Amino acid sequence: MSAELPNRTVERLRPFGSTVFAEMTALAVATGAVNLGQGFPDTDGPASMLAAAQDAIAAGLNQYAPGAGMPVLRNAIAADRARRSNIQYDPATEILVTVGATEGIAAAILGLVEAGDEVLLIEPYYDSYAAAIALAGARRRTVPLVADGSGYAVDLDALERAIGPDTTLLIVNSPHNPTGTVFTRAELTRIAEIACKHNLLVLTDEVYERLVFDGPSSGHSAGSTPASSGHSAGSTPASSGHSAGSTPVHVPLATLPGMFERTVTVSSAAKTFNATGWKTGWALGPANLIDAVRSAKQFMTFVGGTPFQPAVAHALEHEDQWVAELRRGLQRKRDRLSTSLTKAGLTVKASAGTYFVCADVAPLGETDAVAFCRSLPARIGVAAVPVTAFVDQPEPWKTLVRFAFCKKDDVLDEAAERLLEL
Ligand code: PMP
Ligand code: GLN
Repeated sequence: MSAELPNRTVERLRPFGSTVFAEMTALAVATGAVNLGQGFPDTDGPASMLAAAQDAIAAGLNQYAPGAGMPVLRNAIAADRARRSNIQYDPATEILVTVGATEGIAAAILGLVEAGDEVLLIEPYYDSYAAAIALAGARRRTVPLVADGSGYAVDLDALERAIGPDTTLLIVNSPHNPTGTVFTRAELTRIAEIACKHNLLVLTDEVYERLVFDGPSSGHSAGSTPASSGHSAGSTPASSGHSAGSTPVHVPLATLPGMFERTVTVSSAAKTFNATGWKTGWALGPANLIDAVRSAKQFMTFVGGTPFQPAVAHALEHEDQWVAELRRGLQRKRDRLSTSLTKAGLTVKASAGTYFVCADVAPLGETDAVAFCRSLPARIGVAAVPVTAFVDQPEPWKTLVRFAFCKKDDVLDEAAERLLEL
């Protein structure tokens, strides 16, 4: 902002500034750095999906879609969920197409949370949750993930203790950005029990639902584990099931007992089909909850881009093999980058899904990941994101850095060489 002009941003948005992803991408562009900060792939989605969008434009699908989204996409989303997760959503009343998961999240919070209510987050948390909660005039409370071997687990007792009389919504993101943790069925079952017992609504962010790997990368847990030093000393999560060797599986929370009626599930085409720029997402849930989400969404954007919708429908129906190959490729990239980070002297944490792996820079003598990430592009030509950007209580996370591996191999190799200069 220019020095002469007064800050006119409303009070409730001032703490947020601009996103850490935008800041680090701008630094990367300015310095010509390899951008392992913002999570976006550098290759395109399935060719048939790209062609379908072009065909849709050529065929004249260029005006407003229906408010809930084009039926062809809502039907494809319903069929996809039924096939992969054995859960039935009625395309007429239980599915809403949104402008990316981001709008689905914001509209769910704005449509379901009263001003003054409390929303419970598991931290680190994706940055848009806090801003949407602030826009709704609500308050957030966070419970940290805790160290579990070389990865992380949910501290379920702390989660239950954090619920107060004003808590109305819990947000759960698995596979988890930024840590790559895939919550186990045991964890999600207990979360479901807690949500039912305390009558909470739940918003699940499942944008990385298809990007779950065959096993967690073998992080190196020697030395200091960032999350072990802080809040929940003594409260080791019981039978977390995150141990190396166990196969992570994505379990949609809405499929667990008692959860369908209280859960809004949000996902999008961005990560499944390498289409982060298409901003085509969806919210799923019982009709009364989706009505609330629609009430907010209709006045934010009314509808999203029309020609992307039949194209994403096509991909959901026909591109399973492409997604399977994407997942295998990302698993190899996770291992490639993890090896490079280890060689560069960082302590790599386990990642079982998503685009991301986190690593501790303390072994390099670093004490502050924010300062480290701000200097890294100019210093060695690599951009990354400090995990403290995702938390309210930075202490346990202050030397942890998130690296995105959703990049071409030669880009990852270039980053690897530069990292060796550390
Ligand atoms: N949730 C999480 C956890 C994310 O990482 C992202 C970023 N891709 C989003 C939501 C936003 O998704 P979209 O781009 O579909 O709005
Ligand atoms: N989801 C992406 C990430 O975590 C960023 C999206 C954005 O820039 N808002 O890197």
